[in-house]
Amino acid sequence: MNQLTIQKKIDGVGIGLHKGVPIKISLSPLGSNAGVVFYRSDVDTYIEAKPMNVRDTTMATVVGDEKGNIVSTIEHLLSAIYAFGIDNILITLDSYEVPIMDGSSASFCMMLKDAKTQQLKEKKKVFMLKNSIEVKKGDNYVKLAPSLTPKYNFSIDFPHPSIGIQSHSLEFTKENYLEEISRARTFGFLKDIHMLRKKDLALGGSLENAIVMDQKRILNLEGLRYENEFVRHKILDAIGDLRLLGYPYIAEYSSHAGSHDLNHELTLELLNSPDKFELVELDGIKEMIFYDQR
Ligand SMILES: [Zn+2]
Repeated sequence: MNQLTIQKKIDGVGIGLHKGVPIKISLSPLGSNAGVVFYRSDVDTYIEAKPMNVRDTTMATVVGDEKGNIVSTIEHLLSAIYAFGIDNILITLDSYEVPIMDGSSASFCMMLKDAKTQQLKEKKKVFMLKNSIEVKKGDNYVKLAPSLTPKYNFSIDFPHPSIGIQSHSLEFTKENYLEEISRARTFGFLKDIHMLRKKDLALGGSLENAIVMDQKRILNLEGLRYENEFVRHKILDAIGDLRLLGYPYIAEYSSHAGSHDLNHELTLELLNSPDKFELVELDGIKEMIFYDQR
């Protein structure tokens, strides 16, 4: 199988979580081996989506260039790009953040579906994991283990009556992602939003783009999209964060209470451990298990 890009340019618009103003986004085709590249039209700079360019992981994953220009909240868009198997794509933005849309990756999946994929000339490469790799912080961990098929297992334990202990496992295919993961929204607590607003952040955050909770309950009148929507969103985030590796991977990802920070450390650790993986061309049986359903 060859590398994929999209067939045509596609435009969208959405509110930025932090600035709270509309941001224009367009997705355009790119050639083989270009990867995922952001272009900030307002400051005329390109930023590649790769672990070395990560500048912050506290609330979202943020990449930047040497001049201090950044693109924030990249993980939901990268998650959709990964699910569609796209290797090369240009993302043009007129601001420093990817629009939050509805807090999930569903709108980006719709854009990519409209744009359709096309094969390029170069072969597609994937990471085949040979040995397990893990990053821990207290009881929290993220781990990749060798597997014949790509899988994700996530558990969380939030001391809040609406969350508690939740877990979810995903057998990764594009169809399963679209059905089980893509609509899971990000979530936040009212007290944190008040605190962020005081710092002029989260100005665009609302019940339209997140599950918001006070101390006792969920404030969104429509309720949840999935019973365990919180943990499903953590899988959505993990897929987006690990897209920074630059290649798809055939491995089993497991995490308890993982974060953007731990996911980022995992990508750095993996790229610094050449004995743990093999970069192989995706063909034959590997293609069947990975992309058969596309
Ligand atoms: Zn998220």
